[in-house]
Amino acid sequence: MKVLVPVKRVIDYNIKPRVKADGTGVETAGVKMSMNPFDEIAVEESVRLKEKGVVTEIVAVSIGEPKAQDTLRTAMAMGADRSILVETEAVTEPLAVAKVLKALVEKEKPDLVILGKQAIDDDMNATGQMLAGLLGWPQGTFASKVELHDGKATVTREIDGGLQTVELALPAIVTADLRLNEPRYASLPNIMKARKKPMEKITPADVDVDMTPRLSIVSVAEPAGRKAGIKVDSAAELVAKLRNEAKVI
Ligand code: AMP
Repeated sequence: MKVLVPVKRVIDYNIKPRVKADGTGVETAGVKMSMNPFDEIAVEESVRLKEKGVVTEIVAVSIGEPKAQDTLRTAMAMGADRSILVETEAVTEPLAVAKVLKALVEKEKPDLVILGKQAIDDDMNATGQMLAGLLGWPQGTFASKVELHDGKATVTREIDGGLQTVELALPAIVTADLRLNEPRYASLPNIMKARKKPMEKITPADVDVDMTPRLSIVSVAEPAGRKAGIKVDSAAELVAKLRNEAKVI
């Protein structure tokens, strides 16, 4: 069984993003970039399925700048067998990414595609769903548990206030949520080994996909700063402030 895992290079999740001076986006120049955290979870899940003997090959894919090859090397150091870099300087919107992935799915014929539930740079939460739509495949989004058996995937989904379990006929799309697993750190020997694993390089034009953006960003703003708190001396003072100043009781 083959798994395709799309991985996106985004600002490292430990970095506080800064809005560009002209308000057109978030500053990425000179900022540490890493694999999208939900994609690390997707890679980890594929590697665990391979370790269980259910999966035989894991192919990582990234669509983006040449530097996205670092992200693919990380995926291979975690356990992906090979990778495909779809090189483009264009903004990678979910629909264009889903079209590129559809073309790669048709070529690679995986049984399962495991994506992150969302990329933390623009929080679109759309690519997996669009890919399922384009392919006409079943989808299990926000997965916190995945089990493969008899040509089917049983996926437990994190939904508001609880869990939902669905069964999908393979081939299928799964998107990884936070509680699916805790990704491993790549060991130094595995990082060295990953350098020798194959990485194919293509462009969106090779798979006939036009990356021209369909959205334009009108503005990007930081959230309003929070006011400093104060200390009160008694419960009575707290109640008085809540009633007379904050007017919430
Ligand atoms: P999004 O819909 O942008 O929030 O992204 C959801 C998931 O789609 C991510 O977690 C990745 O698995 C995948 N994805 C989105 N953009 C890319 C990209 N440029 N390259 C590879 N995978 C991507």
